[in-house]
Amino acid sequence: MTHTEKINNITKQITIQTATGKPFAFVKKSVSHVVPNNNQKIKTTKINIGELTDILEINVSEKTCVVESGVTFINLVKATLPLGFIPYVVPELKNITIGGAISGCSVESMSYKYGGFHDSCLEYEIITGDGKIINCSKTKNSDIFEMIHGSYGTLGLLTKIKFKLYPAKPFVKLSYINFSSFDEFWNFFTNQCHTGNYEFIDAIIHAPDKLVACLGNMITQTPYLSSYEKENVFYKSTLKKQEDYMTTEQYLFRYDTECHWLSRAIPILEWRAVRKVFGRFFLGSDNMIRWSKRLNKISLPLAVQNLPPVLAAKKFLHYKKRPDMIVDVFIPKTKFPTFWQWYKEYFDFFPLWIVPYKMPNGIYPWINYKHTAKNDENFFIDAAIYGKKNTALEIDYSDLMENKVFKLGGIKTLISRNHYSPTRFAEIYNLKLYNSIKQKTDPTNSFGTVFERMVTKQKN
Ligand SMILES: Cc1cc2nc3c(=O)[nH]c(=O)nc-3n(C[C@H](O)[C@H](O)[C@H](O)COP(=O)(O)OP(=O)(O)OC[C@H]3O[C@@H](n4cnc5c(N)ncnc54)[C@H](O)[C@@H]3O)c2cc1C
Repeated sequence: MTHTEKINNITKQITIQTATGKPFAFVKKSVSHVVPNNNQKIKTTKINIGELTDILEINVSEKTCVVESGVTFINLVKATLPLGFIPYVVPELKNITIGGAISGCSVESMSYKYGGFHDSCLEYEIITGDGKIINCSKTKNSDIFEMIHGSYGTLGLLTKIKFKLYPAKPFVKLSYINFSSFDEFWNFFTNQCHTGNYEFIDAIIHAPDKLVACLGNMITQTPYLSSYEKENVFYKSTLKKQEDYMTTEQYLFRYDTECHWLSRAIPILEWRAVRKVFGRFFLGSDNMIRWSKRLNKISLPLAVQNLPPVLAAKKFLHYKKRPDMIVDVFIPKTKFPTFWQWYKEYFDFFPLWIVPYKMPNGIYPWINYKHTAKNDENFFIDAAIYGKKNTALEIDYSDLMENKVFKLGGIKTLISRNHYSPTRFAEIYNLKLYNSIKQKTDPTNSFGTVFERMVTKQKN
């Protein structure tokens, strides 16, 4: 099917479904990377966008690429790397899609120079809530172009994207620098971001006294190659090694096998023998996400097991409403030491993945300037909290984190539970601008607003 035929199919679906008055949900082929919320029961009409999976053009001389929005990062990298290129920002999980990364969020070890994937984008084709096709770029419909990122599919359906490519080499050399004190780590880490000598910079904090800065560059020759697709566990290797070598593809998806470290939830999954025999059924982010959704439905938390049945049932229901925390929070760089002290005291959950992130063209327009005025910079530190249990009745860690991030003038991604009141939400998001774009791309609110889709009914 050609791209035009696919688009015509989708616009037809949208035009018919608009009449039902229900909000839309997009059905892709790949697994979703938004944490499902047990409370969200918005009735939606399904729009099938599963055919949008083609790479349409790789222009080597222009260093650009055109893809449909359902192309996954693994398929994209497999196509561009043999030609000597990678995207500027490649989220670590193989089956995150281009459309999802733009509409939601993306962050990786090149983000300290280049921001999110959307910052390398040149043009979007979107379908509006009433089935029209709009092309936008920095010069054409630029107000729409700038607001698509962070709109979580509520300002239009992305169908085609043109973006820049980054010159690549086949291998990556990584250096791991260990620290036992945060202050020393912090001085070193921020200095590396400032000098910018490495192509890749991030860090893993294994414990308050085990902090590892990970610095990498692409190279053409390598003395050996490590692999973390089967028996070896990448995040653990950063504690043991001083340096490492991988193919560029393996580096970009180094966290995929464990879905960062979600494999820790079932410790035998980190045993070599088990991985060798059963790895293909359980390892890899797709498997892990599918299994975690299944297990979330049936697992009984320890806290419940010795209680009388009525109380246990009550607590169990409460627990089911609270998935493990998976969230990225962007803290202004100057506030990060304050955040760290607080995190150690109240969260004490490790590993913590640290990714420096620069908004390359200034603060994103979807953020309320009064909120960002609390910061005097466009440099953030993403703290990725993946897998913290949130079952205590007396404290909801997700809510606690949301409040702290707000107070520090940071931004919490909306990929998991959100607790904002409408007033607080308006303090963070530039709703005036958002609503003006909504009038242009979805005046009848077929896609739902970002508050309705990502926040409402997620309070528990
Ligand atoms: C366990 C886990 C680990 C993660 N790890 C990383 C990581 O390592 N690096 C990183 O950068 N990010 C990571 N993320 C965040 C992830 O990149 C975002 O959640 C991203 O938005 C997911 O995109 P997706 O392709 O899976 O789309 P989905 O999860 O299906 O959708 C995400 C949002 O984008 C919208 N959307 C999807 N496709 C389109 C489209 N074509 N047009 C308009 N809107 C669309 C959806 O409506 C939804 O609001 C992680 C998330 C989870 C849950």
